[in-house]
This record gives sequence, C-alpha cells and structure tokens, in this order.
Amino acid sequence: MSGSNIIPWVVGNWKMNPMQADAQQLIQDLKQLLQDAPITEQQCHIGVAPISIALLSVKQSLQNVSPAVKVVAQDVSQMAGTGAYTGEVSAELLKDSQIDYVLVGHSERREIFGDDVTKIKAKISNALNAHLHIIYCVGESLEQREAGQAEQIVLQQICDLAAVVKPEQWHNIVIAYEPIWAIGTGKTASPQDAQAMHAKIREGLTQITTEGQRTAILYGGSVKPENAVELAACPDINGALVGGASLNAESFYKIAQAFAKTE
Ligand code: PEP
Repeated sequence: MSGSNIIPWVVGNWKMNPMQADAQQLIQDLKQLLQDAPITEQQCHIGVAPISIALLSVKQSLQNVSPAVKVVAQDVSQMAGTGAYTGEVSAELLKDSQIDYVLVGHSERREIFGDDVTKIKAKISNALNAHLHIIYCVGESLEQREAGQAEQIVLQQICDLAAVVKPEQWHNIVIAYEPIWAIGTGKTASPQDAQAMHAKIREGLTQITTEGQRTAILYGGSVKPENAVELAACPDINGALVGGASLNAESFYKIAQAFAKTE
C-alpha cells in the first residue's frame, strides 16, 4: 500500500495488443474484479491504454464502471489540430472523442519510431494545449546505466519536459520512470534503485515547479503482482505503468490493489 499523500496511478499499457474479442474479455474480467472489490479513485487512479482504433470501444465498455477507469491513448501526433497528415491522430481529435489522457515519450516510440526530443516536445505541447493529461515516460538504456549515466539521462528528459510545460500545466502531468532494460524483459529495477531514481526525479521536479511534491511518479518495467507490493512501499513510487501484466485482468487488478492507498 502506498504511503505518500499522492494518489497512485496504475495504468495498463496494452501496446499493440490484444485482438478485439480478447480486449472485450479483459475489460469484462476487470469490471468484475472492480465490482467485487472496488478500488476507489481516492485510493488509486486506474487506467488502460488500448490501441488507437479501440479507444472508443474500450471507453464505451467502461462507461458505467464505478470507480471510473481512465482510457489513455498510447501516443499523439506531433501535428496539432486537423489537416492533411495521413495516419496521424492529433491531441485535439483525442479530446474531441473524450479521450483525456495520453502517454508521451514511451521508450518504444523513442527507439523504434524515431520520437526524438523535438517531436516529443511538440507532442507534449500539443497535448497540454488541448487540455489532455500526459503520462510522460523517461528512462535510461542498459548501456547508459552501466556507464553511470542513468541519472543524467533521466534528468535531461525531465528538463526536455520542463522546456515546454507552462507553470499552470504541471498539474496535468504524471511521470513514468521506465528503465529501458527492465521493459518486457522480466528484469525489474530493485525497489532501492527505483526509489533512488524517483527521489532524484522528485528533487528535479521540485526545483522546476511548485507541483513537484504533488506529481505522481510511476515506475514501469516488468511490474507484476509479485514485485508490486515492495515497489509500492517506496515513498516516491506513486504507481505503475504496466505492460505485459496488464493483459491479464487479475494480475493488473492485483497490482492496482498493491498500490491502492488504505482509506
Ligand atoms: C511498458 O511498456 O511501459 C512496460 C513497462 O512494459 P512491461 O511491464 O511489459 O515491462
């Protein structure tokens, strides 16, 4: 159970999964678990990030779930508004479809799809200007960690964020620290290492914004029910961004339970 005053977030990143029927089953299972033993919004914000073409159907399926499960887009265009940009989905179009949350800067976007700092800054600005909430992902590679550069890399990524966020927009930001070497690999950062990086991020944020002590900093990288309790006990770990384990409703629910604050 999380100890700080920040309400934790547990968000399932479904990535390029699952097929429609499996997605609907996953939602039904999650709804059942939440109905049997609710986790309130004061205990934990729960969200799922499906593929873009499933955002609206997932939102529809989750419509009357109480407490609400947030529907999160996995990415947003670097282009704003509407226009001749084949294949893109802008922040304004997400907002127009009542999708209020978006991941930005996931390492798979950075590494596989060429989301460099310029693109990421444009995505952040567009999302915030369209009044979306963003979950901004940061994290170092194994090479960078082994070279002793992890902290410098992550703090630079926080500075990239700070370069485009207006003071009044900070309350719409959640950070996800995801060491790249821990994503989808089964290797998790130890709770001590994760806490140490989260504390550094918190320190950095506090120097930049008055929201620094209130910003949720999630951990991501092979989070499972088996390691969630230990991670949740760390004071600066305010939730989890969950990939693989979010494709199983029970695992995902157990992770949310591990982070949920006692009322
Ligand atoms: C992720 O993709 O954000 C992630 C943390 O994946 P996994 O939990 O599978 O490591």
